[in-house]
Amino acid sequence: MTAPAQSPKQLVLLGAGHAHVHVLSTLAAQPMPGVQITLVAPYPRQLYSGMVPGFVAGHYALEDCVIALAPLLKNTGIKWLTRSATGLDANARTVTLDDGSTLSFDWLSVNTGPVQDRDQIEQTMPGAREHGLFVRPIEAFGALWPQVAELAKTRALRVAVIGGGAAGIELAMAIRHGLRSSSVTIISGAAAVGANYTPAVQQRVAKALKRRNITVLPDMAVGIQAGEVLLGCGARLACDVPLIATGAQAPAWLAGSGLALDGNGFIAVDACQRSTSHAHVFAAGDVSTRVDRAIARSGVYAVRAGPALANNLAAAIAGREPTPHQPPENTLNLLSCGDRQAIASWGRYSAQGRWVWWLKDRIDRAFIKRYARPPLTPAGDMDSDGAPANRR
Ligand SMILES: Cc1cc2nc3c(=O)[nH]c(=O)nc-3n(C[C@H](O)[C@H](O)[C@H](O)COP(=O)(O)OP(=O)(O)OC[C@H]3O[C@@H](n4cnc5c(N)ncnc54)[C@H](O)[C@@H]3O)c2cc1C
Repeated sequence: MTAPAQSPKQLVLLGAGHAHVHVLSTLAAQPMPGVQITLVAPYPRQLYSGMVPGFVAGHYALEDCVIALAPLLKNTGIKWLTRSATGLDANARTVTLDDGSTLSFDWLSVNTGPVQDRDQIEQTMPGAREHGLFVRPIEAFGALWPQVAELAKTRALRVAVIGGGAAGIELAMAIRHGLRSSSVTIISGAAAVGANYTPAVQQRVAKALKRRNITVLPDMAVGIQAGEVLLGCGARLACDVPLIATGAQAPAWLAGSGLALDGNGFIAVDACQRSTSHAHVFAAGDVSTRVDRAIARSGVYAVRAGPALANNLAAAIAGREPTPHQPPENTLNLLSCGDRQAIASWGRYSAQGRWVWWLKDRIDRAFIKRYARPPLTPAGDMDSDGAPANRR
């Protein structure tokens, strides 16, 4: 008599964000016996946001900025569903997909990133859904931007970047460089431009924007209509391209998941990247918040979370204890200024110049190159943490 074959355990990877790209790259070399892995990721490739301003400025083709998923999955036995999750029931251990189907899991890892919640933004900025160009999903933005660039060849465009955070700053300067005849205005809202940076970096940013003739309006955008943005002060700003680069939100489908969430609706995780309410659920990157440390959401943490997540998933599934992941206190933050100049900051230190751009370009290209190749061998050449140095 032979024992009945055990059905494999199901591990579902939701999203192909920075951390999961690393997890995928390790799975060919370190398979998980007895585990069926399913990746749910809607796009065939991951667009690396750090290089998107360079793409807009015209320094890179879109293909330079992407990590294709198919080569990472080759020979891994991983099943790939080109779908988005629209619901999650952590107690029932099921994920609902955008075709209405349901996927069961024993273990789940979430790395779907943040979203720009259209409903929420529409409430504070009526007309945004119809007239605005959203930076997220970044893959959709990357696909749409060439149409704006084509239009700019026919006439000078008036571009309004709504949002004065890092993405808004970088995109404004990139547009100024890429669409030379167009005018660019940043509508910065209640906070100062670059409010998350030190005063020294804010000064550098303000000077860089001024030198590039980018106007900053410290006002709220309260509505968008065809050809104009409505401002909180009552004025109207003539605008052909309202680019919405306001902060990102937690995906709405997490709300009914049963998972413990933080005050902003992101998945609450412990030091081992595990849900504080459901030990069989892991999460990394911008979709999660580590409860014992106030960590700003940014690409750097998403990237650095990858190697730890790969180890922790393998450990948990094998019945071992996962290991705490210690993100760095300070990270090198590089803000590109459009014209092959950039501003660097590290803690309270800052610098700028062409060499900073050169450094950012090298680091970003190296990151893409690491994953845009066949899967790693066990003795692969990845850094101990696999992370590029420049993510903010
Ligand atoms: C223009 C711009 C420039 C930026 N530049 C930098 C920079 O230079 N440095 C930096 O540190 N940060 C930068 N950021 C911030 C950075 O993009 C985020 O912090 C980072 O992307 C978060 O990584 P992540 O892996 O958590 O999620 P993401 O990179 O957003 O990846 C999430 C993945 O999940 C997929 N997904 C989404 N929803 C679902 C779903 N429902 N089901 C299945 N899959 C889903 C997405 O398609 C995507 O592939 C920038 C942001 C923007 C908008």
